[in-house]
Amino acid sequence: MEVPISERLKKLPPYLFADLRRKIAEAKAKGVKVISLGIGDPDQPTPDPIVAELVRAVSDPGDPNRHRYGCDVPVPEFAQAVISFYQRRYGVTLRDEQVVTTNGSKDAIAQFPMAILNPGDLAIAPSPGYPTYNIGHVFAGAVTYYVPLLASNRFLVDFDAIPEDVCRLAKLLWINYPNNPTSATADLDFFRRAVEFGRKHNILIAHDSAYSENTYDGYKAPSIMQVEGADDVAVEFFSLSKAFNMTGWRAACVVGNASAIKALRSVKDNVDNGSLRAIQFAATKALNMAEQIFPAINAVYQRRRDMVVEALNANGWRIERPKATIYVWAAVPEKYKGSSGTFAAELLDKTGVVVTPGRGYGQYGEGFFRISLTYPDDVLKEAIGRITNMRL
Ligand SMILES: *Cc1c(COP(=O)(O)O)cnc(C)c1O
Repeated sequence: MEVPISERLKKLPPYLFADLRRKIAEAKAKGVKVISLGIGDPDQPTPDPIVAELVRAVSDPGDPNRHRYGCDVPVPEFAQAVISFYQRRYGVTLRDEQVVTTNGSKDAIAQFPMAILNPGDLAIAPSPGYPTYNIGHVFAGAVTYYVPLLASNRFLVDFDAIPEDVCRLAKLLWINYPNNPTSATADLDFFRRAVEFGRKHNILIAHDSAYSENTYDGYKAPSIMQVEGADDVAVEFFSLSKAFNMTGWRAACVVGNASAIKALRSVKDNVDNGSLRAIQFAATKALNMAEQIFPAINAVYQRRRDMVVEALNANGWRIERPKATIYVWAAVPEKYKGSSGTFAAELLDKTGVVVTPGRGYGQYGEGFFRISLTYPDDVLKEAIGRITNMRL
């Protein structure tokens, strides 16, 4: 029998990378030697001490619970390590009830609207932006209002440009700095304005902090939790994925407003069973030695960023070096102004290089494309060489 998909699933836009995967397969079938710069998933391995801690914990004969459901035999040290990290890194003091550890951020971002939104509710997400914000809204029966991130505003949310009726109706606003896909950064003053906006309109601010540790040239990204009163109107999603090269491990946390954290915990109690204890021990280890780990990881991305930006700028592009994230976000050549999709398709066709068209991140991503720096130096070099050699 043909099982009809739900109305809920029908409402989702096509999965960003599905179309890309199809085009890659087609190009390969035509004999094109494809290089993908499309996906943001660290190529460097997880640092050894973290792996060693996983191995130790998963084979520890002294821990009779090492194979069990993580929700039933949690590792309280993981949440304590989050608290300690926030204290050291941001000078922010979190109480136990302000922290929940999660199986990665994406899962938590998708589940969170179910915890706090009702069908028909309005929630605000950035465009361009990480698609999971809207996906979570749709699964909860809520509706997304997209706020544009414009180059003219350095890809920051312009709170004053959000219409009054949206401010009145919306219950949740997502922000994400350092930003995927634009690689824009925000200072503490921006977070102050976000908290003020949330307080004024009774809107919970959800800050996705997935790239707070992928920063360069000495730049340190702030946390929204550093703002006075943020723990009353905001939550922050932090992930170990990009910071520690741990995407496959599924280790993250949400901190902030205690009632929102409690609601998310309820959803999680009903839909997941926690993560393996060894993963929680390893995540604890990672956070506790964060300061020793970040420099080496970021040195690699900084080197690649410089190589990509310099090569493109030497060939007529005008790209500012991003201070953070694992992406370079660039305007498509003039000729493709209205269609980043056509640019990406022609680039793939003529050079075999895969970039992500900005349109895939929303209407206001049009006119741009994204290069991910999570590929070995020689691969990146070859790909950028092909891009700059192409007559665009
Ligand atoms: C990668 C990413 C995440 C989530 O990563 P997880 O591996 O699910 O923790 C969240 N937000 C943004 C913007 C990302 O790019």
